[in-house]
Amino acid sequence: ARAVMDLTPHVMLAGRGAENFCYKHQLEFIDNPESYYVVPVGVSPEEMTQAELGHGTVGAVALDAEGRIAAATSTGGVFGKLEGRVGDTPLIGSGTWADEFVGASCTGLGEYFILAGGAQDVASRVRYQGADLQTAAAGLIKDVARLGGDGGVIAVSREGEVAFAWNSDGMKRAGFGPNQKIFSATF
Ligand code: ASP
Repeated sequence: ARAVMDLTPHVMLAGRGAENFCYKHQLEFIDNPESYYVVPVGVSPEEMTQAELGHGTVGAVALDAEGRIAAATSTGGVFGKLEGRVGDTPLIGSGTWADEFVGASCTGLGEYFILAGGAQDVASRVRYQGADLQTAAAGLIKDVARLGGDGGVIAVSREGEVAFAWNSDGMKRAGFGPNQKIFSATF
């Protein structure tokens, strides 16, 4: 992602073109993904393919001292997915979004986040609706729930507000900011 941002005029590359780009710029390849990725403690790879559409993403949003916002999201997708399934995480705007005003990162059943508008929807609620960040984050999750999905979102604004919203059983989260003491919580 960094190389795409720094070395091309694009925001996303995919498929063979992305692979060729990585070769061209000598980016690191993983020879054996099976051994590179670790499965959750107590879960075997077989169980992961049989499990229902479970999920578990890592996301981060940040505002730097110069007022720049960044967001990042990493996932293995959902368990039991079809080959070729594209979730919300790699779709810019769905799983991850950062503009001059808001950064947001989502976790949960990606199909519902795509349908609900995802991370960019949080930014749009702030920008077009004048919503405060927490209300905007909660609004997205309410729409995800209305559509039948579950998950959560973390967000930061250029004022340094930090917001979390989720409708899953819990969401491991941590944060701090100018108006926010450092903290971590699950439920
Ligand atoms: N959102 C991810 C996906 O649907 C899953 C996750 O949150 O772990 O691929």
